[in-house]
Amino acid sequence: MPTLVLVNGDGIGREVIPAAAEVLAALGLGLRFVEAQAGFEHFQKTGNAIPDETLAEVQAAGVALFGATSSPSTTVPGYRSPILALRETFDLYANLRPTFSLPGPFSRPNVDLLIVRENTEGLYSGRERREGDTAIAERVITVRGSERIARVAFEWARKKIRARRWETEAQSPSSNLESLVTIVHKANVLKVTDGLFREACLRVAAEFPEVAVKEMLVDAMAMRLVRDPENFDVLVTTNLFGDILSDEASALMGGLGVAPSANIGERAAVFEPVHGSAPDISGQGVANPIGAILSAAMLLEHIGQAEAAGRVRVAVTETLRAGVLTRDLGGTATTRDVTLAMLGNL
Ligand code: NAD
Repeated sequence: MPTLVLVNGDGIGREVIPAAAEVLAALGLGLRFVEAQAGFEHFQKTGNAIPDETLAEVQAAGVALFGATSSPSTTVPGYRSPILALRETFDLYANLRPTFSLPGPFSRPNVDLLIVRENTEGLYSGRERREGDTAIAERVITVRGSERIARVAFEWARKKIRARRWETEAQSPSSNLESLVTIVHKANVLKVTDGLFREACLRVAAEFPEVAVKEMLVDAMAMRLVRDPENFDVLVTTNLFGDILSDEASALMGGLGVAPSANIGERAAVFEPVHGSAPDISGQGVANPIGAILSAAMLLEHIGQAEAAGRVRVAVTETLRAGVLTRDLGGTATTRDVTLAMLGNL
């Protein structure tokens, strides 16, 4: 029986993860759920942001659904964001953030792109220090880290090509759609670090001759995401750039409330909505659970339940099409209303 770990975390994590778990349970797949602790509130109570038991549960199950945790912007001695700890402990090097059109005026049509973000190094390597009046952050980019994230991006592009060929051949056998990986960097300024990233990605690209590749500077990419996102398929980039671009991209599908993501490593995978703990709305029962539910669909696909994942995505589409919308999407529905509509649509 597949086991998955549920980590609610802080704030609206405690509202959206139970909603997603209810949807997963309703699929009748015999999934076993294990609840585990992490977060700022847990830290305040126990002095530990993520207990060893949580890490042991994730290690044993191999998959987890994570809500969100709060991280103060000032240094709190002893506290480190649990999601960063999970990424580090299990070397969850690939952060996948898909953005696709949803039915409704809040979403841009014809968008279907995947941001593949390197998740373990770059400016988030934790090498920051203060030297008097100067603060320094080291940006660590390695050949190993760059090549392995590039490989994930090209594998996804290959899968997309296959899926599209299959779809289009059913309708018109002559069509030959090409998928595209865009390597996003700033090598014109960061010549050494992004120079290495760019070269590593281009080396991996040579192993995938069927995938067309191009490159773009991150500032231009930020503009193109707003102007013509429909012209992009898979973007691969470093940690901070991917973090920023994927929040920007989430606005194309309807905002943080609907955007899903996955953190994938060789030993474990953690799925989480892109949003944070949203202290401004937490406890009111109005958080949008769709980002968590679509993250659960990514989890299902990861454990070989692609058909169930498809059912969840169709139910999301039907729920939105029926106008069951939370406040962030312009409606008045509560978290519970959306969950009940989802259960009805499954
Ligand atoms: P946030 O994503 O929590 O909220 C940004 C805005 O989007 C808020 O107005 C919020 O109400 C809205 N929003 C977010 N999710 C929503 C949902 N599901 N439904 C409806 N509205 C939603 O980002 P923030 O305010 O910058 O950060 C709040 C806290 O979350 C901080 O402590 C931050 O460190 C933490 N955070 C955690 C994670 C994570 O755990 N992976 C990610 C981002 C931020």
